[in-house]
Amino acid sequence: MKELYIFSNTSPQSVQVREDVTALLKKKGFKLAEEFGPSVDMIIVIGGDGAFLHALSACGYPQTPFLGINTGHLGFFQELNPDEKDKIVRFCSGEGYTIQENRLLKAEIDTGSGIVKDYALNDILVKDSGSSVINLRLMIGDNFIEEFFGDGVLVSTAAGSTAYNYSLGGAIVDPRTPAMQLAPLAPINNKAYRTFTSSLLLPPFLDITVELIKRSADLPAFYADGKEIYKGPFKKVKISLSKHIINVVRNEDYDFWGKVASKFL
Ligand code: NAP
Ligand code: MN
Repeated sequence: MKELYIFSNTSPQSVQVREDVTALLKKKGFKLAEEFGPSVDMIIVIGGDGAFLHALSACGYPQTPFLGINTGHLGFFQELNPDEKDKIVRFCSGEGYTIQENRLLKAEIDTGSGIVKDYALNDILVKDSGSSVINLRLMIGDNFIEEFFGDGVLVSTAAGSTAYNYSLGGAIVDPRTPAMQLAPLAPINNKAYRTFTSSLLLPPFLDITVELIKRSADLPAFYADGKEIYKGPFKKVKISLSKHIINVVRNEDYDFWGKVASKFL
């Protein structure tokens, strides 16, 4: 008997869908876990992409497949709609789907008094926590690239390329391309400062290192998938594409570009 764990956000629609899905799966004889643990065979996430990202970190980025059920949000990671009941039951039985493997980003922040480590599926953001300009030194691999002045920098995965990265003018990257993208937030370019204005697309084996040059009036802060993971002065942060993957349940005929067209245009 398959054991399932349901994670949902608190929107009225998600609460309703959660009740309906719980009743359906109980009737079909599935065991529903009270909390996530190693015996769980599949994690069902009810909500939008935000709920999906939240579920990943709440469960500790396990290898267990994640099945998203979309409740009226954008839903890039959410493969099914609540009315697809037959598929929900079939997928929960372990049949009829494919797995999309997604590598996670890893941030290792050297705060000067220790290392703060965290993961992200979409992106890692370094910016000032207030409204000051931040001054950073960027390295790609062993090469010094630039001294950055502006609001901050975002490093995203291919999976995250359609999120914040896209709003910053970054490229949409097919997730079968294991790349990292570094996108600037409001880079300053004038006689005093020179900064790349486009995003940079990097291969999976190069690390990005960001050093804090000058303490801004406010404090720098780090966000992983939109969630604050550290706020305060830091010496440097290393951002790399981790070997750690998470498994996203997809329809057998899942097509990234079909999804992009239907969600954006
Ligand atoms: P949020 O502030 O509630 O929403 C951000 C929006 O991004 C939502 O519409 C969300 O979809 C969508 N989204 C998330 N991941 C996506 C992906 N991989 N592809 C396309 N769209 C995606 O924050 P949240 O829902 O907790 O999500 C956190 C993410 O928000 C961060 O990782 C960052 O990428 C993004 N963000 C974007 C901006 C911006 O574009 N200006 C600013 C801050 C953060 P749902 O509606 O389905 O939740
Ligand atoms: Mn959201």
